Amino acid sequence: MDGLQKFKDFIKYNDIELSPLLRIRHDDENDQGYYVELDGNAMTDQEFIAEGTLLARIPKASVLSTSSAGISNLIPDEMHGTLCGLVVAYMFERASGERSPWSGYIATVPAVELGCMRFWTAEQQQVVAGTDAADVLRAAEAELQDMYEQQAAPLLERHGQVMSTAAGAEIDYGFEAFCRAASVVGARCFEVDAHIGLGMCPVADTFNHSDDPDVRFETTFEVCEWCGAVNGCEHEGFTYSDDEGENEEEEDDDDDDEPVDTCDIVAHRAIPRPLFGTRQVFNSYGPLTTAELVVKYGFALATNRHDYVSLEREARRWFRDQGFAWPKRQHHDDDDDDDYNDDDEIDVPRVDHDGRVRGVARLLEPVVGRAAAAQISIELVRQRLQRLQRPGNPSGHELQFAAGLEPAGPTRTGLQVVAGALLGLGRVSLSAGKSKSG
Ligand SMILES: [Zn+2]
Repeated sequence: MDGLQKFKDFIKYNDIELSPLLRIRHDDENDQGYYVELDGNAMTDQEFIAEGTLLARIPKASVLSTSSAGISNLIPDEMHGTLCGLVVAYMFERASGERSPWSGYIATVPAVELGCMRFWTAEQQQVVAGTDAADVLRAAEAELQDMYEQQAAPLLERHGQVMSTAAGAEIDYGFEAFCRAASVVGARCFEVDAHIGLGMCPVADTFNHSDDPDVRFETTFEVCEWCGAVNGCEHEGFTYSDDEGENEEEEDDDDDDEPVDTCDIVAHRAIPRPLFGTRQVFNSYGPLTTAELVVKYGFALATNRHDYVSLEREARRWFRDQGFAWPKRQHHDDDDDDDYNDDDEIDVPRVDHDGRVRGVARLLEPVVGRAAAAQISIELVRQRLQRLQRPGNPSGHELQFAAGLEPAGPTRTGLQVVAGALLGLGRVSLSAGKSKSG
C-alpha cells in the first residue's frame, strides 16, 4: 500500500475531517513531499471560499504528543509538551512501525528533512557563508546540542532499553539520530494547547508555507493544563487562566459557543476559485526570514516579505566599541510576550526586504542624535556587506554561478532558490547602502 493510501486510511480511522474541496497530493516529480490543493472543479456554484470557513478538523486525540505517545509515562514532567520531549516520543513511535497508532501518518513523513541546512555538505554551506543563515544555523545547533545533552540523553540512558523493547526495534539514540528526528518534528509541530503543548498534527502539517497564506491553524488553547479538559474537570483549582480576576463571563453561560476539542484549519481569507482547475493551498509557519526557513524547514521562497538582513552583530559591535550599553528591548505594557511579532514590531536592526534600513534609528538616536545615527547606519550596512562578501567567500556573481552549477544533492531544488533568495538580500542591502550614501 502506498503512503498516500495509508494516510487516507489513517485520516478516516481517526475521524479527521477534510473539506471535499481539498485534496492531499504527493509531489512525485520533485519528491517534495505532500501538499494540499484546492479542487476548483469541486466548487459547484461557489466563486470563492469565504474567510473563516472550516476546511479541516483534526481531533486532538489524533495529535502525536508527549501526552498521547506510547512512552508518555516515561517522559518526565518538565519535558512534557516541549520540543525535546516530542522528538523522543516521535523517535519511539517511528521505531514502532506498524505497532504505532500513527504509522499511517508517519508513513507520509520523511526520516529526515534533508533540505535543512545542517544536512548540507560543507561545500553547500560555504555557498551561504556570511549570510544570516549561517548565524541562525549556529544558534540552532547550539540549542539542539544543549537539548540533547541536558534532556534527551539522560532520558534515553535511563529508559532507552525499555523503549527499544516496547518498539520492537533497536532505536538509535545517538545525537545524529536525534537531529534527524528533530528536523522532521521541528518542521511539523504546532503549539496545540495548554495541556498538550507542542504536538504533531496530522493533515494540518501537510500545508506548505507562504508569506501570504490562505489558511490558518486554530485550537482552543485554554484547556485544563493537567488533563486537557475543555469544559471544566476535577482539577478546578488548576484550570488554565491567563488573568487574575475579571471573570465576568463564566464559560458555562454560553452554551452555544461550546469550545471544540479539535485542531482546525480555517480559511484565513476569501480563497477564489482557481482559474485553471486546481491550486495549492498555503498556511503560514510564521513571519520567518529566508535564513530561518532554510535552517528550520529546508526551503526558501523566491520572494518573502518577512525577509531581512540582520545588522545586529554590527550594531552590537558598534555599541561595544563606543562603550555604550546595548539597549534593553522595549516592552509595551499590554503586549503578550508570546504574541506574534508584527512586521514593524521586529526589534532587530536590519535591512528589510524592501531595501530600507529599520530598527537602527531606534537604537542609535537616543545615544548620538539623528544626524549621526543616519551616518552610522550606513556604516553598519557597509560592514554587513563586507561580512557577506569577505575574502574567501565568493562574490555575489560567483555565488549565483555556483548555485546554478549545483545539479544534485539533497538541496537540489532548494539550494538554487536559497542562494537566489540570500543573494537577493545581498543585492538589497547593497542598493540600500548606495542610495543612502549617494
Ligand atoms: Zn483537568
